[in-house]
This record gives sequence, C-alpha cells and structure tokens, in this order.
Amino acid sequence: MMKHTLFVKTLTGIVVGIMVVFALLHLDFREKQSEESFERRASEQREAIAQKSAATDAGFEPAYLELHRSGELGSRAEKLWQVMESCRLCPRKCGVNRLAGETGFCRAPGKELYISSYHAHFGEERPLVGRGGSGTIFFTHCNLKCMFCQNWTISILGRGSKSDTERLADMMLELQKRGCHNINVVTPTHYSAHILKALDIAAGKGLQLPIVWNTSGWERLEILKLLDGVVDIYLPDFKYWDSEMAATYSSGARSYPEVTKEAIREMHRQVGVAKPAEDGIIYRGLMIRVLVMPDRVSGSEEVIEWIAENLPKDTYVNIMAQYSPQYKAFDYPQISRRITAEEYERVVGRAREVGLTNLDIRGFWWLGR
Ligand code: SF4
Repeated sequence: MMKHTLFVKTLTGIVVGIMVVFALLHLDFREKQSEESFERRASEQREAIAQKSAATDAGFEPAYLELHRSGELGSRAEKLWQVMESCRLCPRKCGVNRLAGETGFCRAPGKELYISSYHAHFGEERPLVGRGGSGTIFFTHCNLKCMFCQNWTISILGRGSKSDTERLADMMLELQKRGCHNINVVTPTHYSAHILKALDIAAGKGLQLPIVWNTSGWERLEILKLLDGVVDIYLPDFKYWDSEMAATYSSGARSYPEVTKEAIREMHRQVGVAKPAEDGIIYRGLMIRVLVMPDRVSGSEEVIEWIAENLPKDTYVNIMAQYSPQYKAFDYPQISRRITAEEYERVVGRAREVGLTNLDIRGFWWLGR
C-alpha cells in the first residue's frame, strides 16, 4: 500500500512537473512572439517615419552634396584639418599642434574624436524635431566653458567614447535611417574638421539630411567661410551682450559679443531666413537662440534689439526660459537662481515692440504661464 501511494505521488509529481515545463515553454514562446511583434511594429513604424520624411522633403537637396560631388567638400575638410596643426579653429586661437597630439583650451584630445552620444532628439525646436526627431550628435569638450553649463560632464569633463570619422559617418547614416529630419551637431567647432570628413564619407553613402550647426555662436569668420555651402541650418546662441559678462561667466571670452555679431551676420548671409517647408520642417536658414539669464546677465533685450536692427524682422528667434544654475553657477550669486516669469516676459515684450515676427516663445510653457 505504501509502495502504491509512493508510486502515485511520484507519478503525480512527474505529470505536474511536465505541465509546469510546458507552461513555462509556452510562456517563453509567447514572450518571444510578443517581443518579435513589438520589434516588428517598431521597425515598421521607423520605416514609415523614414518614408514620410523622405516623401515630405522630396525636392530638398542638402547644400553639401554639390560640394561632395565636385570634391570640394573633401578639400575643405582637409583645410580645416591642417588648421589643427597650429590650432585656430575657434577664437581662442591656442596655436597648439593638435595633429601632434597637443591639447588646447578646449581639451579636445589632439586629433582624436570623442563623442558622448547620438540619438533622435525630441526636445529641440519644433521645426527641427517634426515627427522623426532631430538627429543629434553630442561631441565632448568645449572652447567656451561656461560657469553654468548644463552639459558640463560632457563639455568640461569630456565624458564620451573614442570614435573616428568613419564611425561618425555611420552615425549620421543611422540617424537618417531612423527617420530623423536633420543631423544636429552639438558644440561642433573644435571638431569641425572631423565633421566635414565624416560628412564627405556619409554623402558618398547616401546621406540626404541637412546639417544643423548647433553652436555657441562664438565662431571665427575664416572658419565659417569654409562651412559656406556645407551647413544648411545654423543654430547659434547669442549668449551675452556685454563683454564683461562674457569674460566672467565664459572663462575669459571677452570677445564673445563682437565675434558673435559678425558670425551671425555671416551665417545669415550663407543660409538666409529659416522658413518651414509645407511639412512644417525647416531645412535651411538661421535660427538664433537667446537664453534669458537672471539679473540681465545675458543682456537679452539688447541682443533682441540688435537682431531687429541688423537682420530681417522674420528671423527665427527662440527666446529660452530654461536657464537653471548648474556646474559652478552657485559660486556666483548673480546666476545662482532660475529666471522669473517677469524677466522672461520683459524680453518677449521687447521682441514684439521692435517688430520681430518669427518668435519661438515656448518659455511661457516652461514657466507655467
Ligand atoms: S579649438 Fe580648442 S585647441 Fe583649437 S583654438 Fe579653439 S580652444 Fe584652442
């Protein structure tokens, strides 16, 4: 009797065990099926966005393609590369030999290329984001080194991975494949030679997206002239009106206001006013960012007046409210707080008074107004 009970128990155990194994296998199979179908749906979605993007920008050809076909893009890249021999890529004009591995003020490691990340970014200006996102590539290091930098781990500490121009070209192509509307190079100046080399490679492999030069605005005219016909969209900041403020909060960059005015004029000469196409996306033009800072540190009202006096009234101007004290900002009482709604409203009001018509003022949303 005992033996029989033991036999029945063992048999029941085996049957239950088999059922459990089958149930688990079934669950695993279902999970795999749902993972596969999720991946398939995501891939179909990406494909649809890419097709939509290709369909809506039909007829658009980025400026650099012509230069690529003629071989000029390659020679511009080479000229920029040679500038690194006694580096004068930016207004710091350090004169270090980056080709021999020397490092200047920006701390970009010689001629090596370091990239922090790349992805479809949905937080940029709406006409750059569209449905597929802005194909953003974040480069390490920076020549300006602002005391309030929100990306200081990337720009000051240089957190990122070693890369090269081939890999950078692949990133551009991958962002295009994902359905992004543009290639948005963030803080590009000290890597401008690498970017043009990569662009030349990517253009040869089918890149069709406009390049967004997402810069502090502190650019040398000589270097900008080498970007003429390469960049479709300039996205400069205009950070300071006053050179003392620029020197204090951006590591001695006293020349910032004067250099940036000339740079923005040149950018406008190259690409003109930014106007959205029928699909709402901007493919070409100048888009200026004005970050309102506490206590009038940025002189945003004067900056706005200068734009109205020196550029067309329909120049795209993004008046930004998202300043928040980061990095070393708490060492400076003047910039150790966020701005008030009144400070933001004053700048927007001035922009309206001077007749600027193409304002991006999502800052009201940011400030909860
Ligand atoms: S890019 Fe860097 S090394 Fe070259 S001049 Fe500017 S700060 Fe100096």
